Amino acid sequence: MSVKAAGGDAAGSGEGSPFDDLGVAVGLAEPLAPHTWLGVGGPAKWFCEPVDVAALGRVVKRCQEHSIPLRVIGGGSNVLVPAAGFAGMVVRLSAPAFSAIAVEGTTLQAGAGAKLVHVVAAAVQAGLSGLETLVGIPGTVGGALVGNAGGRGGDIGDTVRTVTAMTADGTVVERTGADLTFGSRWSNLDDVIVIGCRLVLEAEDTDLLTKRMQKRWIVDRTEQPAGVRTVAMMFKDPHGSTAEALVTQAGARDIRVGEASIHGPRSNYVVAQPGCTSDDVRLLVEQVRARVRERLGVELTPQIELW
Ligand SMILES: Cc1cc2nc3c(=O)[nH]c(=O)nc-3n(C[C@H](O)[C@H](O)[C@H](O)COP(=O)(O)OP(=O)(O)OC[C@H]3O[C@@H](n4cnc5c(N)ncnc54)[C@H](O)[C@@H]3O)c2cc1C
Repeated sequence: MSVKAAGGDAAGSGEGSPFDDLGVAVGLAEPLAPHTWLGVGGPAKWFCEPVDVAALGRVVKRCQEHSIPLRVIGGGSNVLVPAAGFAGMVVRLSAPAFSAIAVEGTTLQAGAGAKLVHVVAAAVQAGLSGLETLVGIPGTVGGALVGNAGGRGGDIGDTVRTVTAMTADGTVVERTGADLTFGSRWSNLDDVIVIGCRLVLEAEDTDLLTKRMQKRWIVDRTEQPAGVRTVAMMFKDPHGSTAEALVTQAGARDIRVGEASIHGPRSNYVVAQPGCTSDDVRLLVEQVRARVRERLGVELTPQIELW
């Protein structure tokens, strides 16, 4: 969710913080780099990890009252924070109240802050299929739902029955049926804070599921950059091709900007080497995109989100 300031000065300049009376620990100038996979970028003006939905609601409402822009950070595996940071509130749903996973019959409920890999493992352990091919995708359930994370084996959106979310005025709503749209690495959940979801899965033999999950895990490990943590996926796969193939065909694999380079064997991933800046990564993605456009006439859509 991203709520833009409606104009004028965001409150908070001068005396105290606009969050002082909320009973929520709010950090000032929190470095965001450690909260992202790439490990680059500047600080958030305000940062908090609310303990429960009520505390989150107070923060969200206060942001709206003071026209303070607000963003949620999940696992930080798909965001690029600019060097200037983010001049608003960044919320992370890391508290236990947002990370619970529960299985009942063929229904799995998960909090938005739960790690996707834990949700996949819980489903497989309970003998439920539908998520096992998502095992190698980093990040949280919230991030996965907003971007409809997935791959060749299917997307998370295929399994979603209900999403519980908070709107910009702090109201908790349930979205289901026609109110939920999932597309290719996209969903219509970009105007809310996702709090949790109910997924409907199918009963299947646990041993078979475990084998399928392990196979997917092994494939992912060969398809994703191994041994480096400071990486991000650059582009969405266009219809009928892969971003990796196009980057390679366009001869863009050797492009390097400062300390940002393309991961040798996996050319749809940017790697931030020590000393890399946010601008290095942004410029590299722009240059690769331009090269593919010039040489192949294809406009790649960035996967990574620039804040
Ligand atoms: C090595 C690697 C492999 C990857 N492989 C895949 C893959 O196979 N398939 C795939 O689809 N993606 C893949 N990705 C991209 C990324 O992992 C996914 O997009 C992931 O779902 C992002 O989740 P996150 O929690 O890290 O989100 P973040 O990066 O933290 O956030 C992404 C967006 O979601 C928003 N968001 C996060 N949580 C919430 C919430 N609770 N409410 C509202 N908005 C929220 C953020 O504001 C931001 O706009 C890969 C990335 C890496 C680094």
